[in-house]
Amino acid sequence: MAETSTTLARIIRKEAARIGFSAIGFSSPVPQSLAIERYKAMIAEKRHAEMTYMELQIDERTMPDMLLPGLKTIISAAISYNHPLHNSSGQPAISKYALIDDYHIVVRKKLEELLEFLKSLLGEDMKATIAVDSSPVLEKTWAEHSGIGKTGKNTLLIVPSAGSYIFLGEIFINKEIIDNKPPLPNFCGSCCKCFENCPTGALIEPGKLDASKCISYLTVELKREFSAEESAMIGNNLFGCDHCQEVCPHNQQASITADRSFTLCNDLLNISTETILTLTKSSFRNFFYGTPIFRIGLKRMKRNARAVKENLQRAE
Ligand code: SF4
Ligand code: SF4
Repeated sequence: MAETSTTLARIIRKEAARIGFSAIGFSSPVPQSLAIERYKAMIAEKRHAEMTYMELQIDERTMPDMLLPGLKTIISAAISYNHPLHNSSGQPAISKYALIDDYHIVVRKKLEELLEFLKSLLGEDMKATIAVDSSPVLEKTWAEHSGIGKTGKNTLLIVPSAGSYIFLGEIFINKEIIDNKPPLPNFCGSCCKCFENCPTGALIEPGKLDASKCISYLTVELKREFSAEESAMIGNNLFGCDHCQEVCPHNQQASITADRSFTLCNDLLNISTETILTLTKSSFRNFFYGTPIFRIGLKRMKRNARAVKENLQRAE
């Protein structure tokens, strides 16, 4: 059974590569007590800031079989979005992942394609569920466990040859696939570039992030208006922040780059704060529909634009 299953893993990996995934791996749903302990410590220390939804569904995170009764295998899939667009220095900046179409849609579509292939191999009666940032899943833990990557000091998963500009998704299935790939070693070594280049000191220890100081959190997740301090902290970042990824040697040397199915949104590169501040609901929709930015809505995007405008004026 184990050997058949290992062969299966190889066949599935080949199909996943054809679909566009940079890496996929397989885990059995064994208890991940260390990861849960760390997760609970993060909540207790309030490093999740105002993302109170993270305090919920801890049981589901601990016991992934609550997401799929009879769960036997978690398939972790990574896809690169390391495309060539980049913001000019000193201009309003949008994170790399938001300069392409919404990954939730693209990655789900690809996982659905992979799932159809799995059904053709394992039987149409196979039970499965797909997650792309939508379910309470410890996705980096399962990705590490499956041997496709290792979390770096900047808290992001680094996939060999692809780096950290990756999206993760999972397929939970009620069939066993054994792969026996050992977890990867730490890739950071003595490097500290992400720490040294984080503009707000949000990385408080290797692998520990204080979300309340993180520009990605402030510009994407925080729902209320900024305090004066938060407003100054975001600098020129309109949506997200890539500083701790831009400097990472694993991204600079990545040989696997963005899957070609991602559409590049050239219009969003160096978009001015004036343009955003004059958008109406319908022009916001025209500009951003189908990108991750659409999810935060016009009000929050204008909040970000006001802060960036002030910060850039102050810097002049
Ligand atoms: S995303 Fe930006 S603010 Fe957050 S940890 Fe990375 S460099 Fe720091
Ligand atoms: S910049 Fe250096 S320390 Fe940070 S994640 Fe990359 S390799 Fe690790």
